[in-house]
Amino acid sequence: EPPAEKFEYQAEVSRLMDLIVHSLYSNKEVFLRELISNASDALDKLRYLSVTEPGLLKDAVDLDIRIQADKDNGIITITDSGIGMTRQELVDCLGTIAQSGTAKFLKSLKDSKEAGADNNLIGQFGVGFYSAFLVSDKVIVSSKSPKSDKQYVWEGEANASSYSIREETDTEKLLPRGTRLTLYLKRDDKGFAHPERVQKLVKNYSQFVSFPIYTWEEKGFTKEIEVDEDPSEAKKDGEDGKAEDPSEAKKDGEDGKAEKKKKTKTVVEKYWDWELTNETKPIWLRTPKEVTTGEYNEFYKKTFNEYLDPLASSHFTTEGEVEFRSILFVPAVAPSGKDDIINPKTKNIKLYVKRVFISDDFDGELASGGPFPRYLSFVKGVVDSNDLPLNVSREILQESRIVRIMRKRLVRKAFDMILGISMSENREDYEKFWENFGKHLKIGCIEDRENHKRIAPLLRFFSSQSEEEMISLDEYVENMKPEQKDIYFIASDNLTSARNTPFLEKLVEKEFEVLFLVEPIDEVAIQNLKSYKEKNFVDISKEDLDLGLFPSTSSGRKDRNYLQIPPLIGDRAVCITLCDKNEEKEKEIKQEFAQTCDWIKKRLGEKVASVQISSRLSTSPCVLVSGKFGWSANMERLMRAQSM
Ligand code: ADP
Ligand code: MG
Repeated sequence: EPPAEKFEYQAEVSRLMDLIVHSLYSNKEVFLRELISNASDALDKLRYLSVTEPGLLKDAVDLDIRIQADKDNGIITITDSGIGMTRQELVDCLGTIAQSGTAKFLKSLKDSKEAGADNNLIGQFGVGFYSAFLVSDKVIVSSKSPKSDKQYVWEGEANASSYSIREETDTEKLLPRGTRLTLYLKRDDKGFAHPERVQKLVKNYSQFVSFPIYTWEEKGFTKEIEVDEDPSEAKKDGEDGKAEDPSEAKKDGEDGKAEKKKKTKTVVEKYWDWELTNETKPIWLRTPKEVTTGEYNEFYKKTFNEYLDPLASSHFTTEGEVEFRSILFVPAVAPSGKDDIINPKTKNIKLYVKRVFISDDFDGELASGGPFPRYLSFVKGVVDSNDLPLNVSREILQESRIVRIMRKRLVRKAFDMILGISMSENREDYEKFWENFGKHLKIGCIEDRENHKRIAPLLRFFSSQSEEEMISLDEYVENMKPEQKDIYFIASDNLTSARNTPFLEKLVEKEFEVLFLVEPIDEVAIQNLKSYKEKNFVDISKEDLDLGLFPSTSSGRKDRNYLQIPPLIGDRAVCITLCDKNEEKEKEIKQEFAQTCDWIKKRLGEKVASVQISSRLSTSPCVLVSGKFGWSANMERLMRAQSM
């Protein structure tokens, strides 16, 4: 027999085990959820590979998870017929941390400590294999990969810095394929080894696992046996009245002549057998009407390792040309990390073909076969298609007409779902959404012309008349003055400088609302939209701003002519201001100030494109504007920032 080889854990593993044990001591039961989810992952991997390599299934076709609880000895075994692990994989997977779930756990632990969250919250995260040591003194993992003809045994103990690996030599323990975990429970945790306790945990934590989970339980059936009647016995039976069959007794009474009376007795025969413990029908196959919000939320949290309920969900089936089912979710929090929009690497959409899990690895991009354009890659969900081939590849996903149609529908549904949040009575929901994903939608304005109509109503901005609460473009349009043709905006670094810009004066006077675009991306987004409900977006800082020839409403104002000399770069114009737009007066003033303008232009030289008389201000003496075709000051800032 080859000897066991000893290995040291990677330093992080020891630290992680320590952390898990200390932060989850009050929530130990999560160990079962973690181990079942690993078994389910292993089955998913096998099922996926077997599509192209049916030989993988040959030794055992059943894909299931079996849990045995031995309460007398405090031992739980969990067996799956999944992909298994080779010797090297045992080392790589169970001796080092490179895994997503555990990495996420470490981060969440840090975050939740900072936020003062309790341990229950932490318990919602995937903490992985090592959670077995929450309840076990010793864990044995015996695993057989189809890649190897040998089965190997990993053995580790709580609070140890090393583990061992040996070959499985006990022929009784050989598996056709897959993994068996044996947990030797700690003295105080032996209670977990009760079959009923295990069943309760499975029902509670693993109802969305799509493979059958069987638990080993004691069953009984009743059976009738014939016994000789003994008068004293009969009396006893009669007293407790349970075992006697009345019809039988009557019959006996009728032919009461027999010397030795026969009678039957019902006994309970006990035996042990597997019991199917979970509901394996995927939630997306159920009728939406029959699924509660609570169930959707649970499904979401379990499937995506989230700890907050989603902001919204949408469950739908499409039939006809292309048939698929899907549940989509909008998360309540934005993903961490700055590059998420630009370079999304999410595992947010899980693609199934005829219930077989295919992939969740699309980098959130259409280009890599993903279902969403990257600006919508924050949407999470499952998509199950009946029309795609099981051996679908990335290339097929990119080319397929079916996928193109699916994408269109998914995008539309995603927008409907977001629109639903925006129409919710609870305004806070959409504020939360906007805070997290507003930037994504603005990128959508730039990258997805085709969906401008869907994106635009979802945008939100501060405005000159609403600095506290953001408004929608619909609200803006509703609030437009009858004589107002355009949607006005000013781009600025922040609300304060937007509020104080001289460009606003005339518009405020006319009570025209002006959108305050304070994020660098806002202006680009708006420029891409060009118009909303046939109203153009107009930058009030541009040279040719035309507010129309309307008589001023305020009376008693003096004519004041101002000029101002702001030295700046670019194709700017200096405007000298007129108060009222009165053509004759304007001509007059233009003549009068022609020389002054020339003089200013000479002094400023190349710094400005021209110096003009203007009617756009009311109290400020003058203003520096952008050329009709030039960049606005804000854009210029943006471009400069980007080229640095
Ligand atoms: P995660 O599941 O997030 O990857 P875990 O700590 O739960 O992290 O598991 C680590 C790795 O060990 C898994 O990614 C998988 O490769 C391997 N593994 C764990 N359990 C099993 C199993 N039952 N069958 C096959 N591989 C497993
Ligand atoms: Mg896991």
